[in-house]
Amino acid sequence: MKTIYCIGELLIDFVAENQGSDLSKAEVFTKKPGGAPANVACAIAKLGGDSKFIGCVGLDPFGTFLLDVLEQNKVDTSLAQRSKTFTTLAYVSIAADGERDFVFSRGADKKLKYDSAIKKGFEENMVHFGAATALLGGGLEEAYCRYLFDALTQKAFISFDPNFRGDLWKGEEKIFVKKCMHFIEKAHLCKFSLEEAQLLSGEKELEKACAILHEIGTQIITITLGEKGTLISTPSLKQMVATIKVDPIDTTGAGDAFIGCLLYQISLLNDPHLILDDNERFVEMVEKANKAGALTTKKFGAIPALPGHDAIF
Ligand code: ATP
Repeated sequence: MKTIYCIGELLIDFVAENQGSDLSKAEVFTKKPGGAPANVACAIAKLGGDSKFIGCVGLDPFGTFLLDVLEQNKVDTSLAQRSKTFTTLAYVSIAADGERDFVFSRGADKKLKYDSAIKKGFEENMVHFGAATALLGGGLEEAYCRYLFDALTQKAFISFDPNFRGDLWKGEEKIFVKKCMHFIEKAHLCKFSLEEAQLLSGEKELEKACAILHEIGTQIITITLGEKGTLISTPSLKQMVATIKVDPIDTTGAGDAFIGCLLYQISLLNDPHLILDDNERFVEMVEKANKAGALTTKKFGAIPALPGHDAIF
């Protein structure tokens, strides 16, 4: 089994209890572990895979809580770092008009220091770049870009999920798109939402969007489309893969469960790069990943809702 290194942020989401009021009125918040790459690391480990998290939290109790959550979910945290800077915090509420009200206190996640010793571990393993905050600058962005170079030179299988958050890039979407290009060019597999596929390709129509994204470099594209399932596109395969029917109560983390489950299955191959040669097997893997995404919507929260091995296989 290959090891999957997941690089990026681990943070606290403080979710306002009284939905329907903006943050200025919210009084009670629930503390939840957050950060897409951390969710993906948990999704992989919960299925029985081998995931290692690379990211930075504060030396404060929130940082301790977050690393405990990863360890309880069997993620290897030996490469995680701690900084004197406070753990990154996000405060979220859904206001009466349905819009997300959002305050972001960026702290320790951006303090990640590149460690050249990690590179050796990438050799013929897998590296997932899935951070929502990585391209916002700081040490994390520098480390993120250097680890991409390391993953390439070590012939790792590279996966990229841009995790675009409109709240973080208001008015600066073009900068986000530009920063993603290098990752789309080098990643073997990219996971996009509908919004991301359209934003990054500059094209509304999905078939054309895939063609543009392939042209940039990536060979395997998955576009997750909620209850409709997933559109997959490779040089020899273009197909919608249906998902299972569920009654969703909270869609948080569905995309992370999807990519975690897909990467877990690829990690079981002797050579992950060979997935491109077996279309039938790839479609079966995406069916399972869809199921993982769907089941995650049946429970509240991201990490607690991630399915275990027996629920999927
Ligand atoms: P995120 O908001 O976590 O980044 P995303 O937009 O990337 O998520 P979704 O499309 O919401 O991802 O979900 C990922 C996958 O999970 C979908 O492709 C689908 O297979 C499955 N899924 C999500 N929502 C549902 C649903 N309501 N019914 C069935 N399957 C679902």
